[in-house]
Amino acid sequence: MKTLPIFLLAVLTFAAHAQTSSSKEVDAVYPEAHALYLDLHENPELSSHEVHTAAKLAERLHKLGYEVTEHVGGTGIVAILKNGSGPTVMLRTELDALPVEEKTGLPYASKVHAKDDAGHDVPVMHACGHDLHMAALIGTATMMARSKDTWHGTLMLIGQPAEETISGAKAMLADGFLTRFPKPDVAVALHVGNTLPAGEVGVVPGIYNTNADSIRITIYGKGGHGSAPQTAIDPIVIAARTILALQTIASREVKPGQLVVVTVGYVHAGTKNNIIPDQAELGLTVRTNKPEVREQVLAAIDRIAKAEAEAAGAPRSPLIEHYEGTDLVYNDPALAERLRGVLEASLGKGNVVSQEPITASEDFSYFVEQGIPGFYFELGGADPQKFAEAKAAGTQLPSNHSPLFAPDVDPALHTGIMAEVAVLRNLLKGSDHAANH
Ligand SMILES: [Zn+2]
Ligand SMILES: [Zn+2]
Repeated sequence: MKTLPIFLLAVLTFAAHAQTSSSKEVDAVYPEAHALYLDLHENPELSSHEVHTAAKLAERLHKLGYEVTEHVGGTGIVAILKNGSGPTVMLRTELDALPVEEKTGLPYASKVHAKDDAGHDVPVMHACGHDLHMAALIGTATMMARSKDTWHGTLMLIGQPAEETISGAKAMLADGFLTRFPKPDVAVALHVGNTLPAGEVGVVPGIYNTNADSIRITIYGKGGHGSAPQTAIDPIVIAARTILALQTIASREVKPGQLVVVTVGYVHAGTKNNIIPDQAELGLTVRTNKPEVREQVLAAIDRIAKAEAEAAGAPRSPLIEHYEGTDLVYNDPALAERLRGVLEASLGKGNVVSQEPITASEDFSYFVEQGIPGFYFELGGADPQKFAEAKAAGTQLPSNHSPLFAPDVDPALHTGIMAEVAVLRNLLKGSDHAANH
C-alpha cells in the first residue's frame, strides 16, 4: 500500500477520545432516515437503473446545503459540503438492488418487478442492504450539516450505482470523478450483514475481502433428438462434467489453506425434455485473495472447460468470457487501527470486533486503487436475539442476497449513523493540527 498522506499521519498523533458522536444526536435525525429506509426498501431499483433512488438522495442532500452533481457515471451522485480548510473525506453508499423476490413477509416488503437488461421481467429487492446504507448516509449527512463546528475540510458523499454488477465505481471514475471533483484524501464505506448482531461493527485491517471474477462459459455441442444421442453431442453432459471438474481446482490444484471459491451460479441449457440442445451456458463467480492464486485458478478454469469439450468431441472449443472483475478491498492498516479506536470511543469497546477477511467482493476497490486510502467496515445487521439463538444452534442467519435477508433496522441504522459520523468527524479534524485546535 502507498504511504499515508501527511494529514493522516497528523491524525494518527491525536488521541481517540476526541469528540465522536452521541446517541442523542442520532435520535434527532433518525425518524427521517428511517422513513427514507422504508421508502427505498419498498421501491428498489436494479443496477444502473437507480433513477428514482438517486433523485431521492440528491433532493435531500441539496436541501441540506450540499452541492450536488447528478448523473456521474450513469445514475451516480456526488454531494459536497465545504467547511473551511482541511482534508477531503469521501463516504460512499451504493444505490442498487437485486433481482430477488422478497420473502421476508415484512409489512414494507418489496413487491416491485422490473425489466432486467436482457428484457426479462424480474422481481426486485434490496437484498444486500444498500437501502440501509443510503438511509445511514442521509442521517449522517444531516448530522454533519447541522454540526459544522465539529469538523472542517470537505465532506464528499457519493451515491454509487451498479455495485452488484461491479460496474458503477468504474463508470464514475470514467466520467471524471477524480478531475471534476476534489480528490478524496481518504474514502470510507460500510456494509451491513448478518455476521454480526446489530449494535456492533467489525474491523478488518489490511485485506478486507476477495478478488471477484465473473466468467461465462458457452459450451458447444450438436443438437439432436432426445431419443437419438448417437446423432448428437450433448452439451449438457459436457456442462455437468465441467462443473464437477471445476470443483477440483480448490480441492486438488491449489495449495491447501489458500482462499479459493469457484461457484457455478447458473446453468442454462435446453428447452424441452426430448431435444438435445446445441449449446449450454455456465455462469461462474470466482473468489481469491492473492494475485498468483487468482491467475492459477482462472487458468485452470480455462484449461478444464476446453479439455472437457475436447474429451466429448465438441465441434468447437467453448467460448470463455471474463465479463466482470474487481480487485479485493484493502484497508489501510494504520488507518483501520486508528479508526477502530474512534469507533470504540463512540460505540463502546465491546461493540467493535476484529473480523477475518470475508469472501464477498466490492468495487469500492476501484477508488482505493486510485491511491485513496480506504476504510471499509462491517455493520452488524442481525437481530441480537436471533443471532444468539443461531450461534447456540450452530445455524446461519440468511446472508446478504437471500430473499429472507432482513436487517434489524432500528439498532443497525442507528449504529451505522453513529459510526459514520464518528469516523468522519475524526478524519475531518485531521487538519486541526495545523490550525492549532
Ligand atoms: Zn450484494
Ligand atoms: Zn452489498
